[in-house]
Amino acid sequence: LHIDAPFAAGQSAALSGDQAHYLRGVLRQTPGDRLLAFNEAGGEWLADIATLAKSAGTVTLLEQVRAPAAAGPDIWLLFAPLKGGRTEYVVEKATELGAARLCPVLTRRGDVPRVNLDRLRANAVEAAEQCERLSVPVVEPLADLAAVLARWPADPLTQDRPLFVAAETGAARPLAAAVTAATASGGKAAFLVGPEGGFHPDELDRLAKTPFVVPVGLGPRILRADTAAFAVLAVWQALTGD
Ligand code: SAM
Repeated sequence: LHIDAPFAAGQSAALSGDQAHYLRGVLRQTPGDRLLAFNEAGGEWLADIATLAKSAGTVTLLEQVRAPAAAGPDIWLLFAPLKGGRTEYVVEKATELGAARLCPVLTRRGDVPRVNLDRLRANAVEAAEQCERLSVPVVEPLADLAAVLARWPADPLTQDRPLFVAAETGAARPLAAAVTAATASGGKAAFLVGPEGGFHPDELDRLAKTPFVVPVGLGPRILRADTAAFAVLAVWQALTGD
C-alpha cells in the first residue's frame, strides 16, 4: 500500500479511508495482520495493522524490506484525455511502463473537456501498488496545449527535456532513433500524443515552429491515441531497460 508518511521502525502511519475499506471489507484483514507499505522516500516496509475500522486505520512500521528505488525513467507523457474510461486506462498503463509525470492536455479536437484528477491520481497509486514500483507518477491537472508548450524552457523541469510529438503525418523521426538520442543525452524526455481526432492544423503548425519539439513516427499505421501512448513508453522501456 502507498502510504505518504515518514517511515521509521515503530512509527505509526494512517491508512486512507479507501485503504481501510479495502483491507477490512475486501481482504478481511484484522489488526495484527501484516502488509507492505511503500513510498518514494521510505522504500518498502513490513508493517502490522494496528487498528482497522470501516473507513480508518493505522499501521505500525516494522522494518524496511526494499530500499527507496533509484529514480525510474524521467519520462513525461502528455496526452489528450479520452472517452469511456480510456483516460484511466492510459494512466494505469503509463504507470506500469514507468512514466514519472502524466499531463492531460486539452487540444482543439480533443473530445473530453474535463478529467477527474482525484480519480486519475488514485488510478496511478493503484497501478504503482500492482506493478510494485516504489514511486507514484505525478498526475497534473488538465492544461491546454498552449500552456503546456509555454512551460518550455522556463520551467526548470523542462531543461534538456526534448518534447517528442507523436505525429502520424509529415516528417517525423523514427521513435527508436529519437529515444536512443535522448537516452544518450541525459535520459529525460516528454512525449505528446494527440487526441483521437488528431492535432488541429493550427496546433501542428505551432508544434512545427517550436524549437524543442521533435516529431516522431510510430510506423505506417494510424494508431488509436491510447495505443500510441503505450507504444512510445514501451519503446523507451525496451531500449533503456528502465
Ligand atoms: N490524425 C488522425 C485523424 O485525424 O483522425 C488520427 C489521429 S490518431 C487516432 C491519435 C494520435 O495518435 C495522433 O494525434 C498521434 O499523436 C498518434 N499517432 C497515431 N498513429 C501514429 C503514427 N503512426 N505515428 C505517430 N503518431 C501516431
